[in-house]
Formats: sequence, structure tokens, C-alpha cells
Amino acid sequence: MTAPSPPLSATLELACELIRRPSVTPVDEGCQELMMRRLQALGFRIEPMRIEEVENFWASHGEQDGPVLCFAGHTDVVPTGPLQAWQHQPFDALIDAQGMLCGRGAADMKGSLAAMIIAVERFVADHPKHKGRIAFLITSDEEGPAQHGTKAVIERLAARNERLDWCIVGEPSSTALVGDVVKNGRRGSLGATLTVRGVQGHVAYPHLARNPIHLAAPALAELAAEHWDDGNAFFPPTSFQVSNLNAGTGATNVIPGELRAVFNFRFSTESTVEGLQKRVEAILDRHGLDYHVEWALSGLPFLTEPGALLDAVAASIKAVTGRETTPSTSGGTSDGRFIATLGTQVVELGPVNATIHQINERVLASDLEVLTEIYYQTLVKLLA
Ligand SMILES: [Zn+2]
Repeated sequence: MTAPSPPLSATLELACELIRRPSVTPVDEGCQELMMRRLQALGFRIEPMRIEEVENFWASHGEQDGPVLCFAGHTDVVPTGPLQAWQHQPFDALIDAQGMLCGRGAADMKGSLAAMIIAVERFVADHPKHKGRIAFLITSDEEGPAQHGTKAVIERLAARNERLDWCIVGEPSSTALVGDVVKNGRRGSLGATLTVRGVQGHVAYPHLARNPIHLAAPALAELAAEHWDDGNAFFPPTSFQVSNLNAGTGATNVIPGELRAVFNFRFSTESTVEGLQKRVEAILDRHGLDYHVEWALSGLPFLTEPGALLDAVAASIKAVTGRETTPSTSGGTSDGRFIATLGTQVVELGPVNATIHQINERVLASDLEVLTEIYYQTLVKLLA
């Protein structure tokens, strides 16, 4: 027999309920149903938006006029990996002896979803006649292709002229201590597949062939050494990386006919898609290559400059934790890139990201209480 554990806080109770639903992308497993029930009980207008195989919902509370503060996030989680590698089963949701809430999604991002709901429940109870509107935009496809999730919901909201002034995305932004870092933007991501054509032949008869490896190598070296921009106060300099390079038939005596390189830019607001494309093509042209580039833009950069939202979030973090937060634009892309297209100020604020997507994902249980309080204080500053 073990001693009965103390009752869980409202945030932890809900976080555990969400983690126990194994919602691996794009499956939702009733997580959104649970959230919608809680919001409906508060008087939110609920709008489920199933798009293709993806569950999403939009919900709002308050007056049509006045500013709109939206909480955004995802109920889906990444796969667990081998179950036997987990110390506690990934969908058991238990708090270990170190006070860590363990389970897939604890940090990314069911803990944040629970904190948002509890903060809003408290806020609506304390301020039933609050200013403006509180909204929720929740998807079950952030970790997957992300085509029928936030992106598609935002397109629908834009089509009917919904305004969205401020948005807090619950992505785990913190590095060591909850609230130490918030994301106030993200770099853009521009990918490309480059095909360089040569002429296949025998290595002993090079005059009868054109070797695409020899032709492409100096051009790739120049691309890798190129200085694209200096970045700015908010963004690091734009970076270029080759991720795949393939050529050759496998035989040692054949000059290949073609080379394929896949590369990716993570770019700041100092560079544009068109600008980067032109510069790459100018370098390839200068090397006299016979080539084709297939471009794939996966996200434009976005930036939320200091203003009402960033100020309210920073002041709330300070009030609750005593910490000065650091705004950052580092890390991969997020759904924030879709939301920012509405002209919305977007800030990502969530728990510590040290174990996200890993085996034994976990988050300090008490950090979720702190996060709830930070969300609550932000609501007070913006809508009370
Ligand atoms: Zn996430």
C-alpha cells in the first residue's frame, strides 16, 4: 500500500486528463471535446472546425467590439517511440518523486492547454463583464503536416474578417525556468531541391562526359560561404545549410549524369524569399550550371515588436516569478507563423522545453501552476 497522494490542483488534474488521451497526430482522442465542454460551461460560443481528417475548434467569449486575446495551441502529440524505453508509461500521466509530471505531451503542450483553461475559468469568474473577447484556437495537427490545422482555421477566420489582436501560443518556450524565455517571432524557412544536370560517361573517357559533381561543388562551396544578411536586433543572421547531397550510380567507373542537393534557409526579416532566390540563382548562373531549382516555402518570418501583448506578458512573468523574460526568435517554425498573417501580435509562452519530443517527456508540476498564474495575470492586464 502506498500513502494516498495529496489532491491535484485544477491545472494538474486537467493536464493529466489530457495526457491520458493518446492523441498522436492527427488523432484528437476527445481532448478537444473535454476543452470545449469546459469553455461552454463558461459561456463560450463554440465552433468545432473539422477540416479533412483534422479536428480543430474556435471558441470565443465576450463582446464583439474591443480587443481580442486568443489562446492558441495543439492537442496532438508526437509518437512515443519504444514504450519499453519509458520509465513511466507515456499516457499514464503521473507525478514522480521529483515532482515532475511525466508523459507524452506534458511539456508540448497539454500542460499549457490545461493552464490556459484554468486561467480563463478563474478570469471569467472574477471578471464576468471583461473587456473585448477571449478566444481559443485549438488544432490536432501541429506536429504533423499542419495543412488542415491552424493554417486552415486562420484562412476561414480571415475570410469572415475576424479580428485577432493578440495571441498567446502555449508552445514550450522556456529554457531553464518557466518564463525565462518567450518567443516573439520565428525565422522563416525556405527549402529547395537543386538538380544539376551533366552528361553520364566512363571515368576513363571524361572528355565525352560532363561531371555534375565537379560542376556543382564550387557553386555549393560559394553558397555555403555566402553572407546573406547581418540579422537585426530581433533575428540572428540568415543561415544556409545543405541537408542532402546525392549523385552517382554506385559504380566506381561511371561519371554520374545528375546531382541533387537539398538545402534550407532559416531567414531573418532582413531577407526576402524573392531576394534569396535571386541570389542563389545568380551564383548558380555564374558557375554556368545546367540546373533546375524547386523551391518550397514552409514559413515566412514573423516578429512581434514590443507593444501591449509583449509588455503584458513580460510584466506578468515578472510579477509571478520575479524574472525578467528574454524575447527570442530562435528555434524551429511554429503555428505562430499562420496566426501572424492576420496582423496579430503573437507571443509563445509555455513551460520548459528540455524534454519535448523525447522519451520520458516531463515538466515540473509546480511550473504549470506558475504558468496558470502568468496567463491569468496577462488576462487581467489586457482585458480586466
Ligand atoms: Zn508543440
